[in-house]
Amino acid sequence: MIEVHEVSKFFGNVVAVSDVSCTIEPGVTALLGPNGAGKSTLFRMLCGLTPPSRGTLRVLGADPRRDRDVRGRIGLVPQQDALFDHLSAVEFVTVAAASHAMADPAAVAARALGVVDLDPNNPKRVGAYSKGMRQRVKVAAALVNDPEVLILDEPLTGLDPVQRRRMTALFHRLGDDGRTVLVSSHVLDEVARLGSRVLVIAQGRLAATGDYRDLRELMDDRPHRVRITASDARRLATRLVADGLIVALSLDERHLVVDTLDVDALGRRIAPLAIELGVRLFEVAPLDEDLESVFRYLVERR
Ligand code: ADP
Repeated sequence: MIEVHEVSKFFGNVVAVSDVSCTIEPGVTALLGPNGAGKSTLFRMLCGLTPPSRGTLRVLGADPRRDRDVRGRIGLVPQQDALFDHLSAVEFVTVAAASHAMADPAAVAARALGVVDLDPNNPKRVGAYSKGMRQRVKVAAALVNDPEVLILDEPLTGLDPVQRRRMTALFHRLGDDGRTVLVSSHVLDEVARLGSRVLVIAQGRLAATGDYRDLRELMDDRPHRVRITASDARRLATRLVADGLIVALSLDERHLVVDTLDVDALGRRIAPLAIELGVRLFEVAPLDEDLESVFRYLVERR
Protein backbone atom coordinates (compact mmCIF):
# COMPACT_ATOMS: atom_id res chain seq x y z
CA MET A 1 0.00 0.00 0.00
CA ILE A 2 2.82 2.39 0.93
CA GLU A 3 6.43 2.00 -0.15
CA VAL A 4 9.10 4.38 1.03
CA HIS A 5 12.51 3.88 -0.53
CA GLU A 6 15.61 5.67 0.77
CA VAL A 7 13.68 8.88 1.34
CA SER A 8 15.32 11.99 2.76
CA LYS A 9 13.97 15.49 3.17
CA PHE A 10 16.13 18.54 3.82
CA PHE A 11 15.06 22.04 4.75
CA GLY A 12 18.22 24.08 4.12
CA ASN A 13 20.72 22.33 6.33
CA VAL A 14 18.05 20.75 8.58
CA VAL A 15 17.69 17.04 7.87
CA ALA A 16 14.03 16.37 8.69
CA VAL A 17 13.90 12.81 7.29
CA SER A 18 17.05 10.82 6.67
CA ASP A 19 17.26 7.80 4.37
CA VAL A 20 14.02 6.13 5.46
CA SER A 21 12.89 2.90 3.79
CA CYS A 22 9.79 0.96 4.81
CA THR A 23 6.63 -0.65 3.49
CA ILE A 24 3.26 -0.26 5.13
CA GLU A 25 0.45 -2.77 4.64
CA PRO A 26 -3.30 -2.51 5.27
CA GLY A 27 -4.34 -2.38 8.92
CA VAL A 28 -3.14 -0.04 11.65
CA THR A 29 0.50 1.09 11.82
CA ALA A 30 1.85 3.54 14.38
CA LEU A 31 4.63 6.00 13.65
CA LEU A 32 6.24 6.72 16.99
CA GLY A 33 8.81 9.44 17.56
CA PRO A 34 9.58 12.44 19.76
CA ASN A 35 8.69 15.96 18.63
CA GLY A 36 10.86 17.05 15.73
CA ALA A 37 11.59 13.44 14.69
CA GLY A 38 10.22 13.93 11.18
CA LYS A 39 6.75 12.36 11.48
CA SER A 40 4.76 15.24 9.99
CA THR A 41 7.30 15.70 7.21
CA LEU A 42 7.00 12.03 6.27
CA PHE A 43 3.20 12.31 6.33
CA ARG A 44 3.26 15.43 4.18
CA MET A 45 5.39 13.60 1.62
CA LEU A 46 3.04 10.60 1.66
CA CYS A 47 0.11 12.93 0.95
CA GLY A 48 1.99 14.56 -1.92
CA LEU A 49 2.07 17.94 -0.16
CA THR A 50 5.84 18.21 -0.40
CA PRO A 51 8.36 16.28 -2.52
CA PRO A 52 11.18 14.22 -1.02
CA SER A 53 14.69 15.68 -1.50
CA ARG A 54 15.94 12.17 -2.26
CA GLY A 55 14.43 8.73 -2.73
CA THR A 56 11.01 7.61 -3.88
CA LEU A 57 7.58 7.17 -2.33
CA ARG A 58 4.75 5.07 -3.73
CA VAL A 59 1.23 5.15 -2.34
CA LEU A 60 -1.19 2.63 -3.88
CA GLY A 61 1.44 2.08 -6.56
CA ALA A 62 1.75 5.70 -7.65
CA ASP A 63 3.74 8.83 -6.83
CA PRO A 64 1.42 10.96 -4.66
CA ARG A 65 3.16 14.11 -5.86
CA ARG A 66 2.40 13.40 -9.52
CA ASP A 67 -0.80 11.37 -9.44
CA ARG A 68 -3.93 13.35 -8.61
CA ASP A 69 -6.14 10.25 -8.53
CA VAL A 70 -3.98 8.70 -5.84
CA ARG A 71 -4.13 11.86 -3.76
CA GLY A 72 -7.91 11.48 -3.83
CA ARG A 73 -7.57 8.02 -2.28
CA ILE A 74 -5.57 9.31 0.71
CA GLY A 75 -7.30 10.92 3.70
CA LEU A 76 -5.33 13.17 6.04
CA VAL A 77 -6.40 14.08 9.57
CA PRO A 78 -4.12 16.97 10.46
CA GLN A 79 -2.89 17.72 13.93
CA GLN A 80 -4.34 21.23 14.03
CA ASP A 81 -7.68 21.41 15.77
CA ALA A 82 -9.04 23.84 13.19
CA LEU A 83 -12.74 23.18 12.81
CA PHE A 84 -15.43 25.68 11.96
CA ASP A 85 -16.73 25.95 15.49
CA HIS A 86 -20.05 27.54 14.56
CA LEU A 87 -21.10 24.61 12.35
CA SER A 88 -22.77 21.40 13.47
CA ALA A 89 -20.87 18.15 12.85
CA VAL A 90 -22.98 17.28 9.81
CA GLU A 91 -22.56 20.78 8.37
CA PHE A 92 -18.81 20.62 8.85
CA VAL A 93 -18.44 17.21 7.22
CA THR A 94 -20.83 18.26 4.42
CA VAL A 95 -18.42 21.10 3.61
CA ALA A 96 -15.63 18.51 3.40
CA ALA A 97 -17.74 16.31 1.08
CA ALA A 98 -18.66 19.30 -1.09
CA SER A 99 -14.99 20.23 -1.41
CA HIS A 100 -14.45 16.82 -3.01
CA ALA A 101 -17.29 17.68 -5.41
CA MET A 102 -19.28 14.67 -4.27
CA ALA A 103 -22.88 14.14 -5.31
CA ASP A 104 -25.24 14.55 -2.33
CA PRO A 105 -22.62 15.76 0.17
CA ALA A 106 -25.15 15.79 3.04
CA ALA A 107 -25.83 12.06 2.64
CA VAL A 108 -22.08 11.36 2.39
CA ALA A 109 -21.52 13.38 5.58
CA ALA A 110 -24.24 11.49 7.45
CA ARG A 111 -22.66 8.19 6.43
CA ALA A 112 -19.13 9.30 7.44
CA LEU A 113 -20.40 10.47 10.84
CA GLY A 114 -22.06 7.08 11.29
CA VAL A 115 -18.68 5.38 10.76
CA VAL A 116 -17.17 7.37 13.65
CA ASP A 117 -20.22 6.82 15.87
CA LEU A 118 -21.50 10.38 15.85
CA ASP A 119 -25.16 11.28 15.42
CA PRO A 120 -25.63 13.28 12.19
CA ASN A 121 -28.84 14.76 13.61
CA ASN A 122 -27.11 16.31 16.60
CA PRO A 123 -27.57 20.09 16.10
CA LYS A 124 -24.85 21.00 18.63
CA ARG A 125 -22.09 23.28 17.38
CA VAL A 126 -18.74 21.57 16.91
CA GLY A 127 -17.25 24.31 19.12
CA ALA A 128 -19.17 22.86 22.08
CA TYR A 129 -17.90 19.29 21.49
CA SER A 130 -15.38 17.50 23.71
CA LYS A 131 -11.86 17.00 22.40
CA GLY A 132 -12.58 13.34 21.62
CA MET A 133 -15.74 14.19 19.66
CA ARG A 134 -13.94 16.93 17.73
CA GLN A 135 -11.26 14.42 16.85
CA ARG A 136 -13.94 12.09 15.50
CA VAL A 137 -15.48 14.89 13.44
CA LYS A 138 -12.06 15.42 11.87
CA VAL A 139 -11.80 11.70 11.08
CA ALA A 140 -15.29 11.75 9.54
CA ALA A 141 -14.26 14.71 7.36
CA ALA A 142 -11.25 12.69 6.13
CA LEU A 143 -13.49 9.70 5.39
CA VAL A 144 -15.93 11.44 3.02
CA ASN A 145 -14.23 10.15 -0.12
CA ASP A 146 -13.80 6.67 1.37
CA PRO A 147 -9.96 6.76 1.27
CA GLU A 148 -8.00 3.53 1.18
CA VAL A 149 -5.15 5.18 3.05
CA LEU A 150 -5.89 7.23 6.16
CA ILE A 151 -3.09 9.25 7.74
CA LEU A 152 -3.64 10.70 11.20
CA ASP A 153 -1.21 13.16 12.78
CA GLU A 154 -1.18 12.74 16.59
CA PRO A 155 -4.90 11.90 16.79
CA LEU A 156 -4.73 10.63 20.38
CA THR A 157 -3.09 13.69 21.93
CA GLY A 158 -5.19 15.28 24.63
CA LEU A 159 -7.80 12.51 24.79
CA ASP A 160 -8.80 10.99 28.11
CA PRO A 161 -8.41 7.20 28.50
CA VAL A 162 -12.02 6.42 27.54
CA GLN A 163 -11.90 8.63 24.44
CA ARG A 164 -8.53 7.13 23.55
CA ARG A 165 -9.91 3.61 23.75
CA ARG A 166 -12.87 4.51 21.53
CA MET A 167 -10.59 6.18 19.03
CA THR A 168 -8.23 3.19 19.01
CA ALA A 169 -11.17 0.84 18.44
CA LEU A 170 -12.25 3.04 15.52
CA PHE A 171 -8.77 2.84 13.95
CA HIS A 172 -8.84 -0.94 14.18
CA ARG A 173 -12.32 -1.05 12.69
CA LEU A 174 -11.12 1.05 9.75
CA GLY A 175 -8.04 -1.19 9.45
CA ASP A 176 -10.17 -4.34 9.54
CA ASP A 177 -12.17 -2.89 6.64
CA GLY A 178 -8.96 -3.18 4.59
CA ARG A 179 -7.80 0.42 4.93
CA THR A 180 -4.20 1.37 5.61
CA VAL A 181 -4.36 3.47 8.78
CA LEU A 182 -1.19 5.30 9.75
CA VAL A 183 -1.22 6.98 13.16
CA SER A 184 1.57 9.14 14.58
CA SER A 185 2.31 9.66 18.24
CA HIS A 186 5.09 10.91 20.50
CA VAL A 187 3.72 8.97 23.48
CA LEU A 188 5.14 5.51 23.95
CA ASP A 189 2.32 4.33 26.16
CA GLU A 190 -0.29 5.46 23.64
CA VAL A 191 1.37 3.34 20.97
CA ALA A 192 1.82 0.33 23.22
CA ARG A 193 -1.95 0.45 23.86
CA LEU A 194 -2.74 0.94 20.20
CA GLY A 195 -1.58 -2.64 19.72
CA SER A 196 -0.37 -2.34 16.17
CA ARG A 197 2.72 -2.54 14.04
CA VAL A 198 5.13 0.21 15.03
CA LEU A 199 7.70 2.26 13.15
CA VAL A 200 9.97 4.19 15.49
CA ILE A 201 11.47 7.36 14.06
CA ALA A 202 14.08 9.46 15.83
CA GLN A 203 16.14 12.33 14.42
CA GLY A 204 14.66 11.64 11.00
CA ARG A 205 15.84 8.03 10.95
CA LEU A 206 13.89 4.83 11.26
CA ALA A 207 15.21 3.49 14.57
CA ALA A 208 13.16 0.30 14.88
CA THR A 209 10.23 -1.48 13.30
CA GLY A 210 8.11 -4.34 14.51
CA ASP A 211 5.14 -5.41 16.48
CA TYR A 212 4.33 -3.28 19.55
CA ARG A 213 5.29 -6.32 21.67
CA ASP A 214 8.79 -6.30 20.11
CA LEU A 215 9.07 -2.67 21.05
CA ARG A 216 8.18 -3.40 24.67
CA GLU A 217 10.71 -6.21 24.75
CA LEU A 218 13.39 -4.05 23.22
CA MET A 219 12.75 -1.41 25.83
CA ASP A 220 12.73 -3.91 28.64
CA ASP A 221 16.11 -5.23 27.46
CA ARG A 222 17.85 -1.93 27.81
CA PRO A 223 19.69 -1.05 31.02
CA HIS A 224 17.60 1.06 33.34
CA ARG A 225 19.22 3.77 35.40
CA VAL A 226 18.02 4.18 38.97
CA ARG A 227 19.04 6.66 41.67
CA ILE A 228 19.09 5.33 45.19
CA THR A 229 19.46 7.60 48.21
CA ALA A 230 20.35 5.81 51.44
CA SER A 231 22.06 6.39 54.80
CA ASP A 232 25.04 4.24 53.74
CA ALA A 233 25.10 4.10 49.95
CA ARG A 234 28.53 2.44 49.80
CA ARG A 235 27.50 -0.54 51.92
CA LEU A 236 24.34 -1.01 49.87
CA ALA A 237 26.28 -0.71 46.59
CA THR A 238 28.77 -3.40 47.58
CA ARG A 239 25.95 -5.82 48.21
CA LEU A 240 24.04 -4.94 45.01
CA VAL A 241 27.19 -5.67 43.01
CA ALA A 242 27.86 -8.93 44.89
CA ASP A 243 24.29 -10.07 44.24
CA GLY A 244 24.60 -9.27 40.53
CA LEU A 245 21.66 -6.88 40.58
CA ILE A 246 23.49 -4.01 38.92
CA VAL A 247 25.86 -3.69 35.98
CA ALA A 248 27.30 -0.20 36.62
CA LEU A 249 27.29 2.35 39.39
CA SER A 250 28.48 5.75 40.48
CA LEU A 251 28.52 6.69 44.09
CA ASP A 252 28.86 9.47 46.63
CA GLU A 253 28.10 9.31 50.34
CA ARG A 254 24.32 9.16 50.18
CA HIS A 255 23.52 8.81 46.49
CA LEU A 256 24.00 5.81 44.32
CA VAL A 257 23.23 5.80 40.62
CA VAL A 258 23.03 2.30 39.21
CA ASP A 259 22.36 0.64 35.86
CA THR A 260 20.38 -2.55 36.04
CA LEU A 261 19.22 -5.01 33.41
CA ASP A 262 16.40 -6.22 35.61
CA VAL A 263 14.63 -3.28 37.17
CA ASP A 264 11.88 -5.49 38.59
CA ALA A 265 14.35 -7.71 40.48
CA LEU A 266 16.15 -4.63 41.80
CA GLY A 267 12.82 -3.17 42.92
CA ARG A 268 11.90 -6.37 44.75
CA ARG A 269 15.27 -6.88 46.45
CA ILE A 270 16.33 -3.38 47.42
CA ALA A 271 14.11 -2.87 50.50
CA PRO A 272 14.75 -6.30 52.11
CA LEU A 273 18.50 -5.85 51.47
CA ALA A 274 18.52 -2.43 53.11
CA ILE A 275 16.77 -3.85 56.17
CA GLU A 276 19.21 -6.74 56.32
CA LEU A 277 22.20 -4.36 56.13
CA GLY A 278 20.73 -1.85 58.59
CA VAL A 279 20.81 0.86 55.90
CA ARG A 280 18.00 3.43 55.74
CA LEU A 281 16.55 3.86 52.30
CA PHE A 282 15.31 7.37 51.44
CA GLU A 283 14.56 7.18 47.74
CA VAL A 284 14.58 4.79 44.77
CA ALA A 285 13.89 6.77 41.60
CA PRO A 286 14.08 5.68 37.96
CA LEU A 287 16.10 8.22 35.97
CA ASP A 288 15.52 7.17 32.41
CA GLU A 289 11.85 6.47 32.03
CA ASP A 290 11.43 9.47 29.78
CA LEU A 291 10.79 8.81 26.15
CA GLU A 292 13.90 10.61 24.94
CA SER A 293 16.16 8.07 26.63
CA VAL A 294 14.22 5.19 25.07
CA PHE A 295 14.68 6.72 21.63
CA ARG A 296 18.33 7.41 22.30
CA TYR A 297 18.76 3.78 23.23
CA LEU A 298 16.97 2.56 20.12
CA VAL A 299 18.94 4.89 17.85
CA GLU A 300 22.29 4.02 19.44
CA ARG A 301 21.63 0.31 18.97
CA ARG A 302 21.69 0.72 15.23
P1 ADP B 1 7.49 15.76 14.03
O1 ADP B 1 6.23 15.75 13.23
O2 ADP B 1 8.02 14.41 14.31
O3 ADP B 1 7.39 16.60 15.28
P2 ADP B 1 8.53 17.38 11.86
O4 ADP B 1 8.42 16.53 10.65
O5 ADP B 1 7.50 18.42 12.09
O6 ADP B 1 8.65 16.44 13.15
O7 ADP B 1 9.94 18.09 11.86
C1 ADP B 1 11.17 17.43 11.63
C2 ADP B 1 12.29 18.47 11.56
O8 ADP B 1 12.17 19.22 10.37
C3 ADP B 1 12.29 19.45 12.70
O9 ADP B 1 13.63 19.75 13.01
C4 ADP B 1 11.61 20.66 12.12
O10 ADP B 1 12.03 21.84 12.74
C5 ADP B 1 12.06 20.59 10.66
N1 ADP B 1 11.07 21.16 9.72
C6 ADP B 1 9.83 20.64 9.47
N2 ADP B 1 9.20 21.39 8.55
C7 ADP B 1 10.03 22.38 8.20
C8 ADP B 1 9.96 23.49 7.28
N3 ADP B 1 8.88 23.70 6.51
N4 ADP B 1 11.04 24.30 7.21
C9 ADP B 1 12.14 24.09 7.97
N5 ADP B 1 12.28 23.09 8.83
C10 ADP B 1 11.25 22.24 8.96
